[in-house]
Amino acid sequence: MQTTLTDSIAIAAQFIRAGEVVAFPTETVYGLGANIFDESAIEKIFLAKGRPSDNPLIAHIGKRADLHLLAREITPMAETFMEHFFPGPLTLVLPKQANISRLATAGLDTIGIRMPRHPVAQSLLQTCGVPLVAPSANLSGKPSPTTWEAVQMDLAGRIACILRGEQAEVGLESTVVDCSRVTPLLLRAGAITLEQLQAVVPTIQIAQPSLSEPQRSPGLKYKHYAPQARVEMVVLPMTFVASDAAAFIGLHPPASNVKHCKLCQTIEEYAHSLFQFFRECDAMEIEVIYCEAVSEAGLGLALMDRIKRAAHG
Ligand code: AMP
Ligand code: MG
Repeated sequence: MQTTLTDSIAIAAQFIRAGEVVAFPTETVYGLGANIFDESAIEKIFLAKGRPSDNPLIAHIGKRADLHLLAREITPMAETFMEHFFPGPLTLVLPKQANISRLATAGLDTIGIRMPRHPVAQSLLQTCGVPLVAPSANLSGKPSPTTWEAVQMDLAGRIACILRGEQAEVGLESTVVDCSRVTPLLLRAGAITLEQLQAVVPTIQIAQPSLSEPQRSPGLKYKHYAPQARVEMVVLPMTFVASDAAAFIGLHPPASNVKHCKLCQTIEEYAHSLFQFFRECDAMEIEVIYCEAVSEAGLGLALMDRIKRAAHG
């Protein structure tokens, strides 16, 4: 299949209308979108990514009115979260409408819904006129793509179109909160922080991976976010014995010499750079990537979650 690279929202929307899948920029990472009401287009997402069919997709909406097309019930706490954080990097899990394909939700009777704030994503959604289901636009098991070049590397020849944009601002996938239950549950940490969520709904709890039913948080089931290289988390100041093929990313300079090093000024820059750094290291045939541990406060919770998954995956 030939993959069209474009900057045109109109061209990307044409592919969606024709039942194809299109990669597009969002503020979290690049997504791979399909019309939520087109079952054969949804199948193409799973095929292109090699994604296991029991891993649900997130539905993206352009306007609040579309929520009712997807969710059977909108709980009061979901309303509260939406008031504060929509549009933005927050996904809410709600009971799904009966006509939503079970392929999209991996057989669950709930659906994850997000309203991206990225202007290109918004405009694509408005132009398509339907919600799009979109997981991250990478091959299953690879780090999520934060640039269109990363999408191209994974999916060229496997998808119809890549809508080009800037490098993703946040660089980590959305925060996921299950609002289909009495007590909301944080399923995946992201740029909307636990502290921000607690400030508006203090009862929110954190899902315990080992305790939660597997189908509630399928993201936990699979190896995610991992480069080819081995990932090790390091607490500085600590001297690690770096081989010739070692790399480092973090906030403080490491004491050892490494072949490839990325120093970040802030936690935000660290999160923004992590997946791209993983991909650069793989291209350089780095064998081990040392990632500096940070405090699990604010965005640090999401960053540490991704590093730990990459290290143990
Ligand atoms: P991604 O593939 O990174 O775009 O993220 C999709 C992830 O969102 C899944 O792996 C789940 O962790 C989460 N998710 C989506 N829909 C649901 C749902 N209905 N229930 C629970 N988690 C969901
Ligand atoms: Mg993904």
